[in-house]
Amino acid sequence: MNNFDVIVIGAGASGLMASGKAGEQGLNVCLLEKKSRPGIKLSITGKGRCNITNNAELGEFISEFGSNGKFLFSTFNKFFNTDLISFFEKHGVETRLERGGRYFPLSDDAHSIVNALIKYAKENKVKIKTSCEVAKIVKENNSIKEVILSNGEILKAKKYILATGGLSYPQTGSTGDGYKFAKQLGHTVIHPTPALVPIVLDCPYLKQLNGLKLKNIELTVLANEKEIMKLFGELEFTIFGLTGPVILTVSSEIYSLLQENKKVEISINLKSSLDDKQLDQRLVRELNNFGSLPVRQMLKELLPLQLIDTFMQINNIKHTKKCFEVSKLERQQIFNGLRTIKFKVSSTRPINEAIITKGGIALTEIEQNTMKSKLIDNLYFCGEILDLDGPTGGFNLQVAFSTGYLAGTNLEA
Ligand SMILES: Cc1cc2nc3c(=O)[nH]c(=O)nc-3n(C[C@H](O)[C@H](O)[C@H](O)COP(=O)(O)OP(=O)(O)OC[C@H]3O[C@@H](n4cnc5c(N)ncnc54)[C@H](O)[C@@H]3O)c2cc1C
Repeated sequence: MNNFDVIVIGAGASGLMASGKAGEQGLNVCLLEKKSRPGIKLSITGKGRCNITNNAELGEFISEFGSNGKFLFSTFNKFFNTDLISFFEKHGVETRLERGGRYFPLSDDAHSIVNALIKYAKENKVKIKTSCEVAKIVKENNSIKEVILSNGEILKAKKYILATGGLSYPQTGSTGDGYKFAKQLGHTVIHPTPALVPIVLDCPYLKQLNGLKLKNIELTVLANEKEIMKLFGELEFTIFGLTGPVILTVSSEIYSLLQENKKVEISINLKSSLDDKQLDQRLVRELNNFGSLPVRQMLKELLPLQLIDTFMQINNIKHTKKCFEVSKLERQQIFNGLRTIKFKVSSTRPINEAIITKGGIALTEIEQNTMKSKLIDNLYFCGEILDLDGPTGGFNLQVAFSTGYLAGTNLEA
């Protein structure tokens, strides 16, 4: 039997940070990871480049987490984006600021972040045990007594940090075990649902649209014909529907609307940079210029090639139709088509395809200055297991690192 000062369960972003920080204070720390190596999810973040944080100001950063964001004030007061950048610099990883306030390692390789964290933990004498799955947490009175691994081994510590992540991308090890443990220990788990997840469309044109990227579009989400939200940005068609930044951002709202049995539609304004007058003038000019040529040819000036056939099908434009033959009414129809291309949403993709899990351990049961459980004397939480989810842009990893830092800082021996 082994005895430690601290056992950290889960070697993801938050667990690696928490264990290194605890070790730095001279504590005897054991980090348990069920996969064969630490930081598997971290190594695929940001399309393999790892968007570690965002340069948003404190207030703006916190507002990205909705009403739960206020929980983060004390966390970010102790360890925020500039601290994180300094931390990685100190541990040999230079970073670069990109569009949208996003920070990436200069190496463009998420492994440099993972390796720096592993090195940090090892330098602080953390015992990292991989392929070690915690199967059970045993409680006695109001404290955790021990953890039992799936191979039957029993490990004990004075303090425990639960850093098992959420439910998304389960192949990386995040299979929601922590929610189960926390429930057994008496904690409330806000029902986990997908966030930052692609959506599925009920649309016959997906085969021909698959792979098409649309930039600078205006997206409107409608529920029962009512406008719910509007957003500018970029999206991408897939074989089942849509993904890309604007879609991921609205996806958890769409999930909720679908749960309420609402009819959800996505409307895309393909020419959001032109006002009505400008768009009509542009259309008149193009139709005149292309005169005896087919409308299809003219549309190449206005739309990406891959979208043209679908656009013509949706708007009932015949392939043989010449530009000079377009009546005023037909021009209005083309105008309307450019303004609004509508798709019915049938569902979101499942939670295992979500970038992040919405829901998790109820924040009211956690001390925000320490990450300590208010219910169990020697238990702490950090990372995605908490009921916090932010948009893309480095917000979620900052939460994982900051809450990990805080959990690892506040453990007296
Ligand atoms: C494809 C993708 C891209 C992303 N890109 C970004 C990005 O660029 N920027 C950003 O801010 N966020 C990004 N995220 C979100 C970010 O990865 C998470 O917010 C972050 O990894 C959460 O860290 P964590 O430590 O809480 O959990 P995780 O990183 O999920 O780590 C949890 C660890 O616990 C282990 N574990 C689970 N159960 C047990 C058990 N019973 N016993 C032992 N170990 C266990 C798991 O194996 C895992 O290693 C991305 C997510 C995905 C899926």
